[in-house]
Amino acid sequence: MMARPAPYLDDLNPAQRAAVEVLDGPVLVLAGAGTGKTKALTTRIAHLLAMNKARPNEILAVTFTNKAAREMKNRVGRLTGDVAEGMKWLGTFHSISVKILRRHAELAGLKSNFTILDTDDQIRLLKQLIAAANIDDKRWPARMLAGLIDAWKNRAWTPSKVPSSEASAYDNRGTELYAAYQDRLRSLNAVDFGDLLLHVVTIFQAHPDILAQYQRWFRYILVDEYQDTNVAQYLWLRLLAQGHRNICCVGDDDQSIYGWRGAEVGNILRFEKDFPGAEVIRLEQNYRSTPHILAAASGVIAANSGRLGKELWTEVEEGEKVRLIGHWDGEEEARWIGEEIEALQRGTRGLGPVSADGMAILVRASHQMRAFEDRFLTIGLPYRVIGGPRFYERLEIRDAMAYFRLAVSPADDLAFERVVNTPKRGLGDKAQSEIQRAARASGVNLLEGARDLLAEGGIGGKGAGQLRAFVAGVDRWHEAVQAGADHIRLAETILEESGYTAMWQNDKTPEAPGRLENLKELVKALEQFENLQGFLEHVSLIMENETEESAPKVSIMTLHAAKGLEFPAVFLPGWEEGLFPSQRSMDESGKKGLEEERRLAYVGITRAEEICTISFAANRRVYGQWQSQLPSRFIDELPEAHVEVLTPPGLYGGGFGAAAPAQVEARAVKADVYNSPGWRRMQAQSAARPMAQPREARNQVIDLAAVSRFVTGDRVFHQKFGYGDITGIEGDKLQISFDRAGVKHVVAGFVMPADQ
Ligand code: ATP
Ligand code: MG
Repeated sequence: MMARPAPYLDDLNPAQRAAVEVLDGPVLVLAGAGTGKTKALTTRIAHLLAMNKARPNEILAVTFTNKAAREMKNRVGRLTGDVAEGMKWLGTFHSISVKILRRHAELAGLKSNFTILDTDDQIRLLKQLIAAANIDDKRWPARMLAGLIDAWKNRAWTPSKVPSSEASAYDNRGTELYAAYQDRLRSLNAVDFGDLLLHVVTIFQAHPDILAQYQRWFRYILVDEYQDTNVAQYLWLRLLAQGHRNICCVGDDDQSIYGWRGAEVGNILRFEKDFPGAEVIRLEQNYRSTPHILAAASGVIAANSGRLGKELWTEVEEGEKVRLIGHWDGEEEARWIGEEIEALQRGTRGLGPVSADGMAILVRASHQMRAFEDRFLTIGLPYRVIGGPRFYERLEIRDAMAYFRLAVSPADDLAFERVVNTPKRGLGDKAQSEIQRAARASGVNLLEGARDLLAEGGIGGKGAGQLRAFVAGVDRWHEAVQAGADHIRLAETILEESGYTAMWQNDKTPEAPGRLENLKELVKALEQFENLQGFLEHVSLIMENETEESAPKVSIMTLHAAKGLEFPAVFLPGWEEGLFPSQRSMDESGKKGLEEERRLAYVGITRAEEICTISFAANRRVYGQWQSQLPSRFIDELPEAHVEVLTPPGLYGGGFGAAAPAQVEARAVKADVYNSPGWRRMQAQSAARPMAQPREARNQVIDLAAVSRFVTGDRVFHQKFGYGDITGIEGDKLQISFDRAGVKHVVAGFVMPADQ
């Protein structure tokens, strides 16, 4: 067969070319970030097609996310044209497994139209099974069992394969429950997420003829982000590749960040053992980032032990150092980053104008996103949240908001429906339709309907008492709203008394801590409003203010979601002990968790092409309490020669400075933060000026006799809405026309003269 010319090969360096041209047999590409692993993989697919080695649907290409799969298909399309459309087996482990499983469902005891359960359904099922087994679900909650089963499935353990040493939970009946769960799923013709792979692996193992079919069918196998495969995925791949052994995996041990979900870096090491004679290719030239950025990333990751070790170099021009900046608090950090983004867009940072599409904010924990979302909405900066719902769209936030809505307006039936049985109050579908009926019968809202129903004794059992408590709660909260109670305290009380916070505290799933953080963050957001009503309005405006799809947007996402991506400018906020590295990783014995956090830091820095800005805040407010934060240990690990420390304009008294320096200094000495090496370095490099007072103090300063200080026409500053002019005064309320946020009514105590 005559090989067609392959111009795309000219774009590759010799090592990449080898990764593309060694078409047959096992190939492992082990290389650092930005060295063109994904590019090599994509080109390899194009090359396979061009060389007629396989038809498009005979290539199995596995990526980590659906987004990455789409991107890969586009890239192959650019190299080969329409042929790429025929690639039916390019996708994630899960999307490919669904397809396989539908074709052989009967071998797993299912019909081909099986449904895939979501977590809620899964939990409900497990609860029933735990109850049926007479196990105390307080001690052994369903969510924990769900997590356990998931972990077993990630290791490809069917119930009979779970080692007894791993199954002591649930009074040694974990595997029994697991088996019952699998039976129940089967009788429902359903699977959960973990089953998708597990069933396929089990079918392959039990039916060599079927496995052989697929081994013949998938002539070439390619895997991106190989370092993050778990055992089940690994077995799945190994089974499929064992016939022809045409498997090419690319990965980077330093970017393994899913250990907490069962991924095993060891799979990389095992590759050469399982596929003897594998070609191992290392790529060392980085095409993505400037030398300073690379050196900073290498400096951080060097602190990890047991690395395979890789060199990275680049021909790119030196560029800017990694920028490091400390802020007073999280809001300040968000404000500063918002301004930086606008400066980059205007092209005032020496790069030429950078499109919002080329900028990303990568956070460690999703609750960090709220401050940025609020800030960007205020200044009208379009953004998108990748890999998850936006803050105010999250489940726990919508639940909490429904409680707040009920407190403000007890007639809000949608809110009532959303939370009447969340947390569970024994008010199932039947009780709820009774409430609906009672409300309809007398033409009142659901809360009144519930009251009527209770009065007429139309609801019995455990539900009655709980419903009564719920109704009384809503009444109490509503009274508090009307009496003008402190809305922040009230919000906390509502979440407390309703049992909503407790619901997540008792929840043992990996997501629960994040949800609790989000709830705290929600309460924090309230501080910027005068009352619950104003806050609810703000949120409903946010939900409406959708910018049009095509506008360039800044991306906000977690570090985990940023894997494989790249942006000219990257912001990495919140580098503080307890946040990044996470508290959980710090509490853990051993250094496994910390090392995984460090790899995340490496992933974060290496997303940046030209500008990488790391920041931290000295204080974060948690449940109304200031908490001083220590700069992250990863900041100390940044090699100094590649870092430039910036002085934040707002931090050293600019704009607000009415505090007595002595007082400020006393505060400063108290805060541990000033004793950390990272902070000292920052201080030393920024002429050691004292810090400005915290926001509380600022508010005190401006609160006093605030009203009398203003006259119409004054220029003022508001922490949330920015600068504006007073257009009217009514008692302590000011009407202000803000430059960016439009006309608003705010309480005088929340604004300060612009020139202070
Ligand atoms: P990560 O580990 O972050 O997933 P990666 O190794 O997969 O990184 P790629 O995303 O494939 O790296 O490549 C990084 C950047 O370098 C991309 O913009 C890519 O187009 C570019 N690049 C890769 N190889 C070359 C090359 N030989 N010549 C020019 N640019 C290249
Ligand atoms: Mg990649």
